[in-house]
Amino acid sequence: MDSFDLVVIGAGPGGYVAALRAAQLGMSVACVEKEKMLGGTCLRVGCIPSKALLESSEHFETARDGLKEHGVKVAGVTLDLPAMMKRKDRVVRTLTTGIDGLFRKNKVARVEGTARIAGPGSVVVTTAKGEETIAGKHVLIATGSRPAGLPGVAIDGDRIGTSTEALSFSDVPARLVVIGAGYIGLELGSVWRRLGSKVTVLEYLDRILPGMDAELAAEAMKVLGKQGLSFTLSARVTGARLDGAEVVVEIEGKDPVRADRVLVAVGRSPSTEGLGLDAVSIATDGRGRIEVDEHFQTSAPGFFAIGDVIRGPMLAHKAEEEAIACVEWLATGYGHVNYDAIPGVCYTDPEAAAVGKTEEELVAAGTPFRKGRFPFLANGRARTLGRTEGFVKVLAHEKTDRILGIHILGPRAGEMIAEAVAALEFGATAEDLARTCHAHPTLPEALKEAALAVAGRALHV
Ligand code: NAD
Repeated sequence: MDSFDLVVIGAGPGGYVAALRAAQLGMSVACVEKEKMLGGTCLRVGCIPSKALLESSEHFETARDGLKEHGVKVAGVTLDLPAMMKRKDRVVRTLTTGIDGLFRKNKVARVEGTARIAGPGSVVVTTAKGEETIAGKHVLIATGSRPAGLPGVAIDGDRIGTSTEALSFSDVPARLVVIGAGYIGLELGSVWRRLGSKVTVLEYLDRILPGMDAELAAEAMKVLGKQGLSFTLSARVTGARLDGAEVVVEIEGKDPVRADRVLVAVGRSPSTEGLGLDAVSIATDGRGRIEVDEHFQTSAPGFFAIGDVIRGPMLAHKAEEEAIACVEWLATGYGHVNYDAIPGVCYTDPEAAAVGKTEEELVAAGTPFRKGRFPFLANGRARTLGRTEGFVKVLAHEKTDRILGIHILGPRAGEMIAEAVAALEFGATAEDLARTCHAHPTLPEALKEAALAVAGRALHV
């Protein structure tokens, strides 16, 4: 039986990063993954393919409608969907095989098969050749999550599907209904709208982008609505059924909606099925998430868990931070994640990006704060790009001026948020940000201006 210092179950951004870091720290490491491709949901059927399609579909829409204002005339723009999909698959393949290479370089033993916990320090892997038992001084569960289902909506993987199907539709559906106005619904809804679908988003809440700052979400809805996404809020979907070639989506107290395809994007659930948590009595909470302490230790000695399978936002970079902290703690006795500085980005156009507390959270906590807001309309670079929607909002403590949250809706907000994260990580005040020189003309000048606006001194509005 092979024996390792660390056995990692799952090779997503949590698992593969944990394996690499552990190897760097001198541990012997095995990583068990049931899929042929490494990288998990994020690389195979999540973040990466969706961003590839978002990029391609944006080019298509710009070529079709967006170049005239720049004095560029193009004629006969047509969509080659198979080529677009092929490019996306190529991007995915390059990145996933890159992880194979990183495993080889770092001498991480890759075990292809499905892992099941058999007992303390023991993992059984069902491989193509049969069962194999491996031993780990420590076992790290990084099995991620899977799309959550919706009662009454039977996912058939064709007309009614999850994000996995919506990343590979073989044609552009004339009418696409998206259930859920979260990250997935808005990103993939945007892709198919740009490619020609009439997209209707049905959302249970009375707002979109739950968890994000309400002012930002309201503005995002206005902008996306203008682009042609149609929203029905306070719409609880209770069922969906096939009716010939159509799908009929039932909404509580409202008329049903007919569609050619339906994307169910109502969240994700932790993936622990068949993992054998009971074999060593690993405790889960009411939502099926593995319970861990601040060092990611589960209730079973020697077993650890990180990423989507534990509490907190289901984000690749959150899983990565936890991977590093968990493994470093094992190797050195130190390891920490700053949960107050984990950014979130929704890659719509404009992008929505945030870090730290929302205005609502500060009000609810009774934290006294000041707010600075700056619109991209007044930013020179945004003007030259012809991308003036949205704003930057900086929230700082009323007394100490320490930055508590930054929220950006605007062009390339996902890139811009990095500066905000660094500011929060270093405990910056709004004044610090306002006095930091920003190159002109750039989009991040809007961040500086919003920081100035906290003290009522924005220059360009
Ligand atoms: P989400 O939690 O972001 O949004 C789901 C939405 O569905 C919510 O607004 C919810 O109110 C709504 N909903 C639930 N039940 C409903 C019903 N019966 N009828 C109508 N609406 C209903 O989930 P998601 O968009 O599916 O994304 C899943 C996870 O993947 C999220 O945790 C997200 O963090 C992650 N993700 C992140 C990114 C990114 O970082 N850019 C992209 C995609 C996914």
